[in-house]
Amino acid sequence: MDRPLNEQSYQQLPASCFSACQPTPVRSPRFLAFNQNLAAALGLPEHLWQTEAGLGLFSGNALPDWTAPIAQAYAGHQFANYVPRLGDGRAILLAELRTQQGSLLDMQLKGAGRTPYSRSGDGRAPLGPVIREYLVSEAMHALGVPTTRALAAVTTGEIVFRDEALPGAILTRVASSHIRIGTFQFAANQSDPSIIKQLADYVIARHYPDCVHEENRYLALLEQVIARQARLIAHWMSLGFIHGVMNTDNMSISGETIDYGPCAFMEAYNPEQVFSFIDQRGRYAYKNQPAVAQWNLARLAESLLTLIHPEQTQAIELVMSSLNHFPSLYQQQWLLRFAAKLGIAEPVSTDVPLIEDFLHLLQQHHADFTLSFRDLLHHEHPYLTAKIPPELLQNWLAQWQLRLTRITTTPHTHNEMAAQRTPVAIMAAANPVLIPRNHLIQRVIDAVMTTGDLSLFNQLQQVWQQPFLATAENQPFQLAAVPQEQVSQTFC
Ligand code: AMP
Ligand code: MG
Ligand code: MG
Repeated sequence: MDRPLNEQSYQQLPASCFSACQPTPVRSPRFLAFNQNLAAALGLPEHLWQTEAGLGLFSGNALPDWTAPIAQAYAGHQFANYVPRLGDGRAILLAELRTQQGSLLDMQLKGAGRTPYSRSGDGRAPLGPVIREYLVSEAMHALGVPTTRALAAVTTGEIVFRDEALPGAILTRVASSHIRIGTFQFAANQSDPSIIKQLADYVIARHYPDCVHEENRYLALLEQVIARQARLIAHWMSLGFIHGVMNTDNMSISGETIDYGPCAFMEAYNPEQVFSFIDQRGRYAYKNQPAVAQWNLARLAESLLTLIHPEQTQAIELVMSSLNHFPSLYQQQWLLRFAAKLGIAEPVSTDVPLIEDFLHLLQQHHADFTLSFRDLLHHEHPYLTAKIPPELLQNWLAQWQLRLTRITTTPHTHNEMAAQRTPVAIMAAANPVLIPRNHLIQRVIDAVMTTGDLSLFNQLQQVWQQPFLATAENQPFQLAAVPQEQVSQTFC
């Protein structure tokens, strides 16, 4: 194999931020999936999946000498309870590779065995959640959402014990980094005050380089993370994505979606929707995601206080003012995303009730979020017509149509790009035809677990690479689950 250059920049941080550790070999690894395009972007050989070397790498059984495996330390608030020492309990960072486009990406095994941060865990991952993360993270990428990627998945030939005995698997994922809000909490709580500074400087250099030109670079860092989170969560909301475990250790500092566990896309629109089996009280319900993101950002702000100003009162004043921007930043992003779903590129404040009225109709009539928005592109609105009483639907459609007439009659718009795009084109790019629906993921998991059949896995992976394209072939995958197919809980 060619020898990729592993930059190992994270290892320059103080020793308490990570631990060197090796994957624990597995009995009989076999490839489940390999992402050739992503491998090529990373400068890895395209045919790695056909080689012993590839299997050794992605199972952790035989790491090539260019890897330098470590587990990263972090802390985190889990369901609002602070845990000072979490860390990669079942993940091992292998390398940092630079793409041809120049970005530095982490390559990490998930499920590769125990690490110094495993506590009572086995360091392993069951097959089902590995399949879910592979499919959903790649689908999110295709949907345009910033996310970690899936590079490879192998089965281990070993059993992992959860409530039941399950086949084990290892996912190789790729991220612009695996640094979390929890990493900052960990660094800030070390006795050596230089650690949080070194981490913040590292993150600025790696993810937010223009902060160095700001008068208060650490405040600028906080502000930029806030802006990226506001954007990310609004994007999730516009697709009906529910992360499921928005603990501070599961929020990437780079603004990517990370740690796909009991996540899911909602079908019938319901702001209270929860899928995660561990989220009994709905802390991470669909509608709570923006407020939780702001709560998490406040935890990031706390860990940056001493860097932002030597005097605590002033530091608090500064971060509060930044944190207080979150709701309006989020609202702006939400409005842009949801207005685009209605074909409106340049929303105005009166578009908010128009969007909300539509959402209320969907909620009251248990209409599928994805199908309903996409149906707006169709002349007769067959899906909405079947779901919503005609008078209510006609009322709303009339208001919407009136709003759209204002777009075409405005001679000069501020935005050249927007002016060239028709409402239909805008809607077609904002409203996917296909989302990774729970029952389909479950069908894949069941097929792989019972017969080892990968054909549906491969087919859906293909289909979800073009989520905005309706074809006769992908029509069955567009549909919402029928009642007996519905999956109400997801597991990690
Ligand atoms: P999660 O909620 O999956 O993001 O994990 C929270 C924490 O528990 C992280 O520190 C994980 O590394 C750790 N963890 C989760 N599952 C396991 C496992 N099977 N073995 C060891 N550590 C784990
Ligand atoms: Mg160490
Ligand atoms: Mg996690």
